[in-house]
Amino acid sequence: MNTFNNIINFIKSKFPNQEFIPLHEPRFLGNEKKYLNECIDSTFVSSVGKFVDEFELKLAEFTGANYAVACVNGTSGLHMALLIADVKPNEEVLTQALSFIATANAISYSGANSVFIDVDKDTLGMSPKALNNFLEKHAELKVDGFSYNKTTGKRIAACVPMHTFGFPCRIDEIAVLCKKWNIPLIEDAAESIGSYYQNQHTGTFGKIGVFSFNGNKTITCGGGGAIITNDEALAKKAKHLTTQAKVPHAWEFVHDHIGYNYRMPNINAALALAQLEQLDKFIENKRHLANQYADFFSQTNITFVKEAKDSKANYWLNCIVLENKQQRDEFLEISNNNGVMTRPVWELTHRLPMFSNSQTDGLVNSIWLADRLVNIPSSVRV
Ligand SMILES: *Cc1c(COP(=O)(O)O)cnc(C)c1O
Repeated sequence: MNTFNNIINFIKSKFPNQEFIPLHEPRFLGNEKKYLNECIDSTFVSSVGKFVDEFELKLAEFTGANYAVACVNGTSGLHMALLIADVKPNEEVLTQALSFIATANAISYSGANSVFIDVDKDTLGMSPKALNNFLEKHAELKVDGFSYNKTTGKRIAACVPMHTFGFPCRIDEIAVLCKKWNIPLIEDAAESIGSYYQNQHTGTFGKIGVFSFNGNKTITCGGGGAIITNDEALAKKAKHLTTQAKVPHAWEFVHDHIGYNYRMPNINAALALAQLEQLDKFIENKRHLANQYADFFSQTNITFVKEAKDSKANYWLNCIVLENKQQRDEFLEISNNNGVMTRPVWELTHRLPMFSNSQTDGLVNSIWLADRLVNIPSSVRV
């Protein structure tokens, strides 16, 4: 109780003169208005325009990927990634139960079933050890070159780990396992723009990476997302399918596939470009706050989650690990009642009614973490 009051006072001292301290507020401190005005003056506010192209180029450059394709949001980006990775109905996709619902929803849009693998306690992301155990026990690499689940007989069509709160998971080890079992690796990097594992940007370790630029993320364009890949054919396919699969022609409307209206509008891309220009500064600012939190919590018996070895986190959402669920609930109650917004982690996906029949590996760490994790205010400070 006393510690909790100390924490709340500490957080308030880091965000002074704010009656209510939200978890994560957007900051528009750069060229946002300039680019938006340019966009409006040009009349090109919709799905064609120079900001979309420029944002895609700059995002590819920033992440080190060869190609980026902007989408209307991260969820549509995930759906598109699964489609171009050739995930089909009635197949299976390995992912985390400790994730935002969009990950499993996108898998469902593709018609595939989610299978939930446990996370590591320190990275909060998919555990390569748990993945290896699952594959050794349940998977079979058949003569057609693909892996199948021995229990269900279904093809394991993709693996989608997520870099939780911007903390990179052990993605290099996951990539090795995916290669061994010939399972396409798609990184849900929605929360990890600006996060690196072994100096390599998250989202670039597998076939495809996906980002979100929703209002609560590290950078935002209102609503938006993007796919990154090094594979030119996949990038072309993504661009084609996100634009209703229209065959390029000056006036004719011919489509050669079931397409999607998933293209990011130019007006959102104007905002996205201005935000991307500030990303390095935002992350420096966020890492400074994370350091202050780390110092503070080192003098308490509450664990502050820090980036693991070999990784650099963007510290999108800072988080702490309370002793047990009762402590967690007490802290949530007292902080939210005192103008400091805090939040537990998402309800584990396999506990939601739509996913309650999904196969899991027991999810021991996910369940342990779900009882104890709390996000604390993490906005860029101005
Ligand atoms: C935000 C988020 C998404 C979805 O992004 P939207 O842009 O909101 O559709 C997907 N996965 C994770 C893990 C996220 O945090």
